[in-house]
Amino acid sequence: RRSILDSIPFSIVATDPHGQIVTANPAAQTLLGYAAHELVGSSIFVIHDSEEVDSRAKEPSGGAEGSVGPNLDLMVAAGARTGTGEREWTYKHKNGTGIPVNEASTAMYAEDGTLSGFLTVAYDITKRREAQESVRHMAHHDFLTDLPNRTLLFDKLVEAISLSDVDQTKIVVLLLDLDHFKRVNDTLGHHVGDELLLRMSVRLQESVRENDLVARLGGDEFVVVFTDVEDSEELRSRIDGLMLAVSAPLDVGGHELIVTASMGGVTYPANGDSPVALLKNADTAMYHAKTSGRNNFQWFYDSMLDETNDKIALAAALRHALAHEELSVSYQPLISLGSGEIVGVEALARWDSPDQGSIAPDRFIPVAEDNGLIIQLGEWVLRQACSDAVAMQAELGLPIKLAVNVSPRQFHNKDWLTVVSKALADSGLDPHHLELEITEGILFDDPSDVIESLGAMRRLGIAIVVDDFGTGFSSLAYLTRFPIDKIKIDRSFVRDLTFDDADAAIVDTIIVMAHTLGMVVVAEGIETEEQRSYLEGRGCDQAQGYLFSRAISAERFVPEMRARMPFARNSSA
Ligand code: C2E
Ligand code: CA
Ligand code: CA
Repeated sequence: RRSILDSIPFSIVATDPHGQIVTANPAAQTLLGYAAHELVGSSIFVIHDSEEVDSRAKEPSGGAEGSVGPNLDLMVAAGARTGTGEREWTYKHKNGTGIPVNEASTAMYAEDGTLSGFLTVAYDITKRREAQESVRHMAHHDFLTDLPNRTLLFDKLVEAISLSDVDQTKIVVLLLDLDHFKRVNDTLGHHVGDELLLRMSVRLQESVRENDLVARLGGDEFVVVFTDVEDSEELRSRIDGLMLAVSAPLDVGGHELIVTASMGGVTYPANGDSPVALLKNADTAMYHAKTSGRNNFQWFYDSMLDETNDKIALAAALRHALAHEELSVSYQPLISLGSGEIVGVEALARWDSPDQGSIAPDRFIPVAEDNGLIIQLGEWVLRQACSDAVAMQAELGLPIKLAVNVSPRQFHNKDWLTVVSKALADSGLDPHHLELEITEGILFDDPSDVIESLGAMRRLGIAIVVDDFGTGFSSLAYLTRFPIDKIKIDRSFVRDLTFDDADAAIVDTIIVMAHTLGMVVVAEGIETEEQRSYLEGRGCDQAQGYLFSRAISAERFVPEMRARMPFARNSSA
């Protein structure tokens, strides 16, 4: 019997009816740090944490046996209360530390029914406690960065709010979203993306004070909370510090990255009375920072919500406009720099509202894109443009190409290809005369899907143009993965071409590399003769801009072009 007790991995301690230890097995000795002879003869309360026992002593006792002390009664009663006779308890190690155990106590009775003592069996649950602790930690922290997560952030904000209500201090909540993070993920891989997030989390923590809170909401969104702001000047410099910390160059897996962030800020109590309200408004402010060029900070202000309402009003007006033919399509010629001939036209949507006058596409296209109206609008523009283009070709007697802008939502719509085929078939436009202008952003969405869709369009004979090239993140090398026929150099480079060497160098490089890759190059936004001759000299194929012509209505297009062609040197707008 002894040998069985010796090899059992549980601590087994037997006491007499008064709680004096009579035997303790080797596992008990190891667990408690005592030699057998030190335990035998001592009271069980040497190893039972008295504090915990005391706290239980306040509970009403069932009173198992009148002859034993109240604590022992409780030990047994507690064991009996739980169905298994087990409970979690803390033992006291010889060195004074507590050991969490799972313990079962039973009273032992002699044959004549008198209490002969107690037997307690226990095992160490330190590991289990640690596991529980780590589960609790995991529930409140982000897995990748170990920063507090949304749940803990909300708890902390609730706490901060009640503190602030008492001592009237201000809470500042900053919502920070990395710019173009998705592109890093998609082009360099998720491991680089993860590494970047991790490094950012460290940077953020390092650039705030000890009492500030940095949390991760998920994805590339972080929240920073200040609770000890002194004055606005100091606050400003702390915010600047954060922005600078984020945008310092970073080496991730051999890639030098410069990542910026858009940040929105709110204060309590001015901008919301709950964590939900504060974060929602911080998100609105962050969104404003994104739309005003990214890499900047915006405080929330109430009229931001009005701007959102303006958008809703604009969306309603646009829906009405689509139904009531307030929209039209204008055409801007694309000129061959070699011959000065018109080689194509770009279709540009126009909206003349009876009550608001003409509304710029830069205003209504993003709204249409946001709410999905772009699907309907885009189809309408495409169909209109295809039939106009067929008429222009006939009247001018030139096989000019038609370029139509396709925004991401249209592009990803599953019916898109059918819409295009049908517009071509119904108008009779040769698919080889259609060019679709997409933005770089589309190429980052899901490369394999995008390659397939582009391939399908190309098989129809349609050419793919990358619009606004140079403004995004993509390198020409990245573009080689996609079936692309032409790139359009963004007008911001063309604008500064003749006085900014860096822009000139970028333009030169784009032209040379695109030609190496067999792509046609067009430059947009040409307004001056210097720009035109510079680009011609560099071998740029085509040009578009006010120097040649603004976008003009379908009716006026042919007569105007006849009057101006060919667009040689010294043309004027
Ligand atoms: P985009 O595709 O980059 O179109 C070129 C824009 O540059 C046009 O503005 C055009 O009028 C303008 N532009 C042309 N030449 C010059 C120049 O020499 N100097 C300057 N400063 N600007 C010039 P617009 O028509 O206001 O269109 C703005 C944007 O709206 C377009 O940019 C395009 O992204 C979008 N958009 C227009 N129509 C449509 C459409 O039917 N569908 C979609 N998805 N987007 C459209
Ligand atoms: Ca375009
Ligand atoms: Ca463009």
